[in-house]
Amino acid sequence: MSSRITLRVYIVLICVFFKQVNASVCEQQQIQLHVLGSGGPELDDGRASSSYLVLQGGQARYLLDTGSGASLRFGESQAEFEHLDAIFLSHLHTDHSADLPAFVKGAFFTRRSRDLRVFGPGGNERVPATSEFIQRLFSESGAFSYLSDYLVKGEEAFLVSGIDAPLSKAREQRYQLTENALAFSLATHHGPIPAVAWKLDFSGWKIVYAGDMNNKHKRLAGFAKDADLLIVHNAIPEFAGSIAKNLHITPSQIAQIAKESKVKHLLISHFMNRTQFRQQQLLKTLKASYKGKITVAEDLMILSL
Ligand SMILES: [Zn+2]
Repeated sequence: MSSRITLRVYIVLICVFFKQVNASVCEQQQIQLHVLGSGGPELDDGRASSSYLVLQGGQARYLLDTGSGASLRFGESQAEFEHLDAIFLSHLHTDHSADLPAFVKGAFFTRRSRDLRVFGPGGNERVPATSEFIQRLFSESGAFSYLSDYLVKGEEAFLVSGIDAPLSKAREQRYQLTENALAFSLATHHGPIPAVAWKLDFSGWKIVYAGDMNNKHKRLAGFAKDADLLIVHNAIPEFAGSIAKNLHITPSQIAQIAKESKVKHLLISHFMNRTQFRQQQLLKTLKASYKGKITVAEDLMILSL
């Protein structure tokens, strides 16, 4: 058992037996995931698009994707934007990134003074890299040029910068976020769109976010090995056509990855009208292979790890 996990076990034991004495330690350790958006790009699915907020000790720490509707849900979650360490984008489809400008502008009305790092995939001939995406949004020649001061050090309360994850499928990329927090990116296959999965490894916890992907590279199970939580998207049913399957993972592939990786908790999200009314079939497929905990996402659901 690694020393970090051993420390986590000790703290949990202290919390169980001496909670009244060590309340502040226990609260600092509490990890939650708020589902801000559990839908896809459709207008009539009744859900905000993809976005998940990781909290530690009740404070916002990491934001995974910023799909349309995420900024509204963020406010409803009562989280505070100034506490966020970083934003991680899985890819730049609108249902994963469209609310980024809304967060940057909305942050003007918060106490945020720390620079904001936005991690996301590198680009290809169809889609800009994350750093270029931010330039195209916020630079003086960008779509929201009135926010261009957020790209100039010292001009606004904080600076926005983009960090591009490599698209080589040969390796994971490691990022040191803070002294006790790491992130890892893994290039995934999402049709012609650059996409990455993210792993957050902090204070002894591992949360893996697969984003939109199919399992062409067959590397997600290894990437998510023994994670405390794996977030996977169910955008297509089992019998989908070849174009949809080139973009998205099927329920039986999700089940196989969850089983292989031995993740403790599986969160299924990104429902579309073609999948959100087939959740019983989805659960049957998952439970046939995977024996861990399964949660079906709804907007504003809170998971305590
Ligand atoms: Zn997508």
